[in-house]
Amino acid sequence: MKLLRFGQVGQEKPGLLDEEGNIRDLSGHIDEIDGNFLSGDQFAKVRNLDASSLPKVEDGTRIAEPVAGVGKFICVGLNYADHAQESGMDVPPEPVLFMKATSAISGPYDQVELPPESKKSDWEVELGVVIGKEAKYVSEADAMDYVAGFCLINDLSEREYQLEKAGQWVKGKSCDTFGPTGPYLVTPDEVGDFNNLNVWLELNGERVQDGSTETMVYKVPFLVHYISQFMSLQPGDIISTGTPPGVGLGMKPPKFLQEGDVMRLGIDNLGEQRQEVIRYSK
Ligand code: ZN
Repeated sequence: MKLLRFGQVGQEKPGLLDEEGNIRDLSGHIDEIDGNFLSGDQFAKVRNLDASSLPKVEDGTRIAEPVAGVGKFICVGLNYADHAQESGMDVPPEPVLFMKATSAISGPYDQVELPPESKKSDWEVELGVVIGKEAKYVSEADAMDYVAGFCLINDLSEREYQLEKAGQWVKGKSCDTFGPTGPYLVTPDEVGDFNNLNVWLELNGERVQDGSTETMVYKVPFLVHYISQFMSLQPGDIISTGTPPGVGLGMKPPKFLQEGDVMRLGIDNLGEQRQEVIRYSK
């Protein structure tokens, strides 16, 4: 099942993508796609609905981020050996965790807004994991029982703020629009082998990231287990699992986003995103 949210900012409704690729309106059955929905009985009930009985949504309607009210947006750093290398860093002996402000979350086709003074904004295509029930000190073997599904994420990063301004990475990861998410929350049965998905990103039509989750250092079940040792994971929380090589920081010379650039990115079975880059102005 591919769940999504559609409509203008602040007026989104829940929906799903049917087998023919049409968006269907779920608002007659559920209020929202959020942690409450994902952890409750309605999630299973929606699976049993006949999609063709749901109202069809007009083509061209905005698709929003697929999960509302995300409580925590947790990211894993340097989780692909080849990306650690291009960043000039070692693969960490344990996962590097950092937080991204949830106010950075935006829709998969919304414009990405460079901060007024930003010179070093960069892209990172990532596999996102959406938590479906509270996970607290869970074992690696049980970890997938706590996962509601997967989604595509662009973990945008301002490298000067992240690396040159002292302290934690959160400063360079949290600008508004730096977390395009979606288009869909895809349930695990439709994702297949999440350890073997192509992960790619194109900048202005040129493929710059071209990896596979096969080369992830710490895999999804381990990450859910690991993070749950330090904090409880709540329904609707999202874990972004790191990016493969090909980010602007790793290029020689480094290359960063400019106004007018277009990013297109995707992961097998999770759909695609497209963002145009603008600069914030008051
Ligand atoms: Zn990242």
